[in-house]
Amino acid sequence: PPSAPENPISTVNETSVILEWSSPRDSGGRGDITYNIHCKKCSGDSRKCSPCGSGLHFVPRQYELAYTKVLITDLLPHTFYTFNIEAMSGVSELSPSPKQYLSVNVTTSQAGETSLTLNVILKERKSKDSITLAWQGPERINGAIEYEVIYYEKNQREQNYTVLKTRLNSMTVDGLKPGTTYVFRVRAHTDGGYGTYGGEIELETSHEVLRKYCSTTQIHLLLTIFILVGTGFAKFMTQRLHCGYIKAKQDPDEEKMHFQHGRADSLFLTRTALSSMKLPGSRTYVHPHTYEDPNQAIRDFAKEIDASSIRIERVIGAGEFGEVCSGRLKLPSKREICVAIKSLKAGYSEKQRRDFLSEASIMGQFDHPNIIRLEGVVTKCKLVMIITEFMENGSLDSFLRKHDGQFTMIQLVGMLRGIASGMKYLSDMNYVHRDLAARNILVNSNLVCKVSDFGLSRVLEDDPEAAYTTRGGKIPIRWTAPEAIAYRKFTSASDVWSYGIVMWEVVSFGERPYWEMSNQDVIKAIDEGYRLPAPMDCPLVLHQLMLDCWEKARSDRPKFGQIVNILDKLIRNPSSLKQLTQSSACSVILLRQDANAQDCLTVATLEEWLDAIKMGQYKENFSAAGYVTLESLIYVNGSELNKIGITLPGHQKRILSSVQNFQTHGAHLQV
Ligand code: AMP
Repeated sequence: PPSAPENPISTVNETSVILEWSSPRDSGGRGDITYNIHCKKCSGDSRKCSPCGSGLHFVPRQYELAYTKVLITDLLPHTFYTFNIEAMSGVSELSPSPKQYLSVNVTTSQAGETSLTLNVILKERKSKDSITLAWQGPERINGAIEYEVIYYEKNQREQNYTVLKTRLNSMTVDGLKPGTTYVFRVRAHTDGGYGTYGGEIELETSHEVLRKYCSTTQIHLLLTIFILVGTGFAKFMTQRLHCGYIKAKQDPDEEKMHFQHGRADSLFLTRTALSSMKLPGSRTYVHPHTYEDPNQAIRDFAKEIDASSIRIERVIGAGEFGEVCSGRLKLPSKREICVAIKSLKAGYSEKQRRDFLSEASIMGQFDHPNIIRLEGVVTKCKLVMIITEFMENGSLDSFLRKHDGQFTMIQLVGMLRGIASGMKYLSDMNYVHRDLAARNILVNSNLVCKVSDFGLSRVLEDDPEAAYTTRGGKIPIRWTAPEAIAYRKFTSASDVWSYGIVMWEVVSFGERPYWEMSNQDVIKAIDEGYRLPAPMDCPLVLHQLMLDCWEKARSDRPKFGQIVNILDKLIRNPSSLKQLTQSSACSVILLRQDANAQDCLTVATLEEWLDAIKMGQYKENFSAAGYVTLESLIYVNGSELNKIGITLPGHQKRILSSVQNFQTHGAHLQV
């Protein structure tokens, strides 16, 4: 029988998951390998497990899969699943030895965007100026659900629309103009975000003399709301059943919203007031510095763990504030889990303690499968600790370097999809990371990538030092968008720029962006319009997406939600990854975004070529080994480079990709 499948990769999208794996190392010499998927679901704090039953759907099927990929839908939200992938052949049933599985653990998030589409099932004209709508909510839901009814007057040039919220499955919309056609749509909002709108419903109210749209009681309610917002009762507001507002079509940069019903127009709310109302978006990140007492932020967002529940096992890394260890956490009535333990080195100042713990009060606000999960903090002991889930494969950059060339492109895209999904979640929460880089992504044993590193010391907007001090004491120039370097404009769009660099790092298996160029040269090259060329074997679509992330104008860059959608499409249609970037004449050095062949530098001698690819230090190695002319480069390969003393993998890669280019483009090598 075959050995177990290998290299699992799971891509969770709310309540569905794509599992992929590679074929067993040992096929048993047979060509009839198929795969079966066995599923267990575990819920509750004690993680009691039981078979999954028949509620799930496996595409194309659960048993006897011919390919190494399956899509599983209709999982329960917020549930822990274990999938055992078994490889079978015609002799498996005859073998007395126990079956070998590949186990993949997956935690789903809330059902959201794709699964919640609401359609109105009842419409009724209740009176001349009101309409009642009803819809069917989802059957299963963990946590709160709220519905949003959006409506506007049909054929109105201004397109002002009104949004009403309710926790019920029906709503009477009143205050409408008689004899007017309105368009209605409904969507759900859960902890996992917004579902998609159902179809549009058009309804006309009956003809009648125009009435006053806003009753005195409504104005009173609106005034009360206004006062409540002003006095910080934002939470109370969001829990109201009906709180309507109109979003006028206007410049998003000075977004203002005014309450519904003409008479209340003077009640303008500023963006600040609205952001604290959390309308209409999902949850918003709260900066720990908005707390007068930072310890309160810790208490609000992080669970205090008793130090006796933690067993420290070994040191796995060094953080900004002290050591990082792996160990185990056993909380009462929960199963023991592996954790990472960050500790604050002895002799810390109060400010260091605060900055160290700020990471926990940021991380504790997030709940997403691609964001590192905070288990809790230990603050009551002298030894202050932050406890997070343990990521077996450590940070992504070193992991990729260790496994150079060992993952398929689809596995790499799966990793990138995970990172983009985590970043979408952060940007939806209005959190700007500022230091997105492969070194700040952690990888678990299932190759799931999670965004980490939420330290505060580098994200202080008002601290003039902060823009220039990250962990290494500087802004990470190679990863940072030009506007963030130039005038500290850090936004989700600058995170998208960094994400493009992470894409490049991933596809090149941990290569250093811009190689050994100096920071100043990088800034200059970017300003002149040059961009990183496609890494070796990079699919064209991926390099195009990178270039999109590196658009100079930040509004031209894609949003994280769009990136996730693009990558999802690529995963569903892997043949789109087949077209590789042409080894263009310019691909050796930085590619100018508006490049054409004439922009490329032509070189005529081997020395010029080495200088052009910034490998001039190897001139002697080449000449000593008898390489004199450009033409002789045709014989250069990896083992030849080792022989002539060029052993650094990054340098080898750079030289070889240029040589490949030379082989394609003939005697006059262009770079
Ligand atoms: P940090 O201070 O978060 O950058 O952590 C320093 C190093 O510790 C990282 O580069 C990782 O190698 C390791 N590390 C941090 N957190 C974890 C974790 N949750 N699981 C595994 N390794 C970790």
